[in-house]
Amino acid sequence: MTNPPLSRRQLLGSAALVGAAAFLPADLAAQDSVPSTAPAGDGFVLVTSANGLEAAKVARQALIQGKDPLDAAIAGVNVVELDPDDVTVGYGGIPNEEGVVELDAAVMDGRTMRAGAVAALTGVKTPSKVARLVMDQTDRVFLVGAGARRFATAHGFPDENLLTEKTRKIWLHWKNRLSDLDDWIEAARDADDPDVKRFLEKYGREYFRPQGTIHMSVRSAKGDLVGVTTTSGLFFKIPGRVGDSPVIGAGLYSENGVGSAGSTGRGEANLLTCGSHTVVEYLRDGLTPEEACLRALKRIAEKTHLVPRHRDEKGRPKFNVNFYCVDAAGRAAGAALWSGSKYVVGDAGGVRTLESAWLYRRDA
Ligand code: ASP
Repeated sequence: MTNPPLSRRQLLGSAALVGAAAFLPADLAAQDSVPSTAPAGDGFVLVTSANGLEAAKVARQALIQGKDPLDAAIAGVNVVELDPDDVTVGYGGIPNEEGVVELDAAVMDGRTMRAGAVAALTGVKTPSKVARLVMDQTDRVFLVGAGARRFATAHGFPDENLLTEKTRKIWLHWKNRLSDLDDWIEAARDADDPDVKRFLEKYGREYFRPQGTIHMSVRSAKGDLVGVTTTSGLFFKIPGRVGDSPVIGAGLYSENGVGSAGSTGRGEANLLTCGSHTVVEYLRDGLTPEEACLRALKRIAEKTHLVPRHRDEKGRPKFNVNFYCVDAAGRAAGAALWSGSKYVVGDAGGVRTLESAWLYRRDA
């Protein structure tokens, strides 16, 4: 079964949105979204971010073997956490402005409505595993910084260097480029080093503060709903900065009988709207996963960052946010503020990358 595309009328039709639409950027009201919904499967369904293709394969195998859905999701994202080539998550993530890799992660179990989270955790390649231990081994939800590190040490996680040679060079180039008013000799805009060059080509020479994360939500064959989100957060962030990813309700939310959702993108925008919880609440109201994601994105577009520096000349957000969602019936969807995003779905039939629905067309 596929979800129908969300029409402009549907998108703007609820009582809550009619008033809000009055101050929407004009072109938002003029655009229809693009459908992106994955078919519902009879068995398990997982949905993850575009960087989660390999993670989806691992999680899918675990689900086929009948493993616990949260174990499967964590095993999936561990692949990306341990991959030094993904500079947005785990080992080899881009460090903070002082060159220290600080990681954020959370898990939520919709069966028990329990969750565990860590933020600004250093020295652990797989923070999602530590988040799970917070859920399983404590009566608390969220540990941060030095406390999270001590908790990880107590559970046998060694204090490892998460900065790779590649990310050390990228960080140093960024630092040298910052200013000619300090003691660091200003580096050329383009780097000679091939690793740094590749990074600049992928993420932009102007350092527009790219980010990245992996989220995975799973609906098991029994209908249980769980989620995990893990990230190294904003590139070159202020030490201690935490985005949406490890915050329950913002970076993920899972509730049996309703759905599971998670996010990637500009964490501050999503923190300010409790995005993933909002998506699940819209599911509870009867929206399809795609409608729920798009409506939560509209909330972000309307309500957050009403300051000029976050808006383009047409009043549209300069940043992007993505939601990923699976509902209790096993329907999955991905949607983003801006066109061009992708997401990954896995079920008994395999894994596939799909175009996310969107609110704003790039280059329009
Ligand atoms: N949401 C993450 C954060 O703000 C980063 C991202 O997903 O791009 O830390």
